[in-house]
This record gives sequence, structure tokens and C-alpha cells, in this order.
Amino acid sequence: MNADASGPGSSRGKSVLFCVECSFENPVSEGWLVVSDGDERTIVCPECGHVADHRTERSAPAPRAD
Ligand SMILES: [Zn+2]
Repeated sequence: MNADASGPGSSRGKSVLFCVECSFENPVSEGWLVVSDGDERTIVCPECGHVADHRTERSAPAPRAD
């Protein structure tokens, strides 16, 4: 009898990214091509090259003196 619930090998629960172009599906940290350029991070599908996510990560928020 195996207790397959709440096992350490469970990969469920991670944030899975889904490619709308080719239906590639994997956690962001596994399989996706993550391109970092300065503060920008682009996540590219390894199957079709579709840009699934693109975001700018600022380490220090710059308040705008308006
Ligand atoms: Zn794709």
C-alpha cells in the first residue's frame, strides 16, 4: 500500500505556465527558456519560440517625483 497523497515527489502546486501557441506546459523553472536582460525577464517557449511572459523586475522601486 502506497500513500500517494502529499508525497515529496508531487510536482503539483507549482505555477505552471502554458503556451497558447503549441500547448507546451511546464513550471516556469522547468523547461522554459528564461532570458534575463538587465531588469527584464522574458520567458520563451522552447517548442515554438512564443514569448509566454515578459516582465520588468526592478530591484529598487523608483518613486516618481512629479
Ligand atoms: Zn509554444
